[in-house]
Amino acid sequence: MLLSSLRAFTSRGPSMASRTFSTTTAAHAAAEVKSLGVVGAGQMGLGIALVAAQKAQVPVTLIDNSQASLDKGLKFADKLLEKDVSKERITREAADAARGRIVSSLKMDDLSSVDFVIEAVPEIPDLKTSIFSQLAQIAPKHAILATNTSSISITKIAAATSTDPKDLQAPSRVVSTHFMNPVPVQKGVEIISGLQTSKDTLDTAIEFVQRMGKSPSTSADAPGFLANRILMPYLNEAVICLETGVGGREDIDSIMKNGTNVPMGPLTLADFIGLDTCLAIMNVLHQETGDSKYRPSGLLKRMVDAGWLGKKSGKGFYDY
Ligand code: NAD
Repeated sequence: MLLSSLRAFTSRGPSMASRTFSTTTAAHAAAEVKSLGVVGAGQMGLGIALVAAQKAQVPVTLIDNSQASLDKGLKFADKLLEKDVSKERITREAADAARGRIVSSLKMDDLSSVDFVIEAVPEIPDLKTSIFSQLAQIAPKHAILATNTSSISITKIAAATSTDPKDLQAPSRVVSTHFMNPVPVQKGVEIISGLQTSKDTLDTAIEFVQRMGKSPSTSADAPGFLANRILMPYLNEAVICLETGVGGREDIDSIMKNGTNVPMGPLTLADFIGLDTCLAIMNVLHQETGDSKYRPSGLLKRMVDAGWLGKKSGKGFYDY
């Protein structure tokens, strides 16, 4: 394991960071993933669970600490599957089989026999590290432990799996599988290794997301990785334009939607992502780089203070 960790460490670097994968790279390792655990049944976790059940066709144990979140998530899964059946994208049998592969639970202990775990709890560093320290104790020793974090260091999350800095085994199985929202629609997934991640872990993660029908790319464990390093300053700038009166809500969304041929304008997109998530990512970019160009908009902060988190809370830049 020491050797594989060292190999992983020395074989990555900037030239590898943006490699994209179109072919199978580690069928032997990923074939061993026969079951999945997902922690957090919010918009991302539910999407990941559903796509894994449908495309990779593995049994999924979906964990949340709130029964209301589990009920809401599973109701949404039923709605998505029903829509697919009514549009004849999948058969009723395929929908029932996918839904039948997902079981829900309030107990982390139910992850004691899964091969792969993806964590999708809110973007709060202490919460993520506490979940990973529990996962290291609960999940089998061979299981890959992946995070869906948008911005928190994978190295830091991996370090939470062991209190012994000489223990290279526990953190070597931590990696990021950063899915894009909405998970059933977006094909891209960023795969990010921490300093400790082994090559086997990286390869298995790449292969597993390919089995889910996704197109993985790799990026370095740097603030915001690739997707959010580029996307979040754009969304933040749109909010600054609104708060400083450069344009109104509809003007900002309309010019970017119709001018850059994207499906939605930046304020709508920020509402869909969640304003708390956007703020958390801007805070990480700002604090970790120390660069004032990443300063979060004051209006964004105030809206999160008000509990106006976008679509998920019913109010953001628009009402839902
Ligand atoms: P969300 O708020 O919709 O869902 C989070 C879920 O985690 C909730 O159901 C909550 O009840 C549950 N939870 C909270 N504490 C928990 C605990 N201790 N144990 C188990 N479950 C717990 O959040 P989301 O938008 O799905 O984001 C989840 C993660 O995915 C975050 O790290 C976020 O940065 C990342 N992400 C989000 C997006 C996006 O567009 N929203 C995109 C990519 C990545």
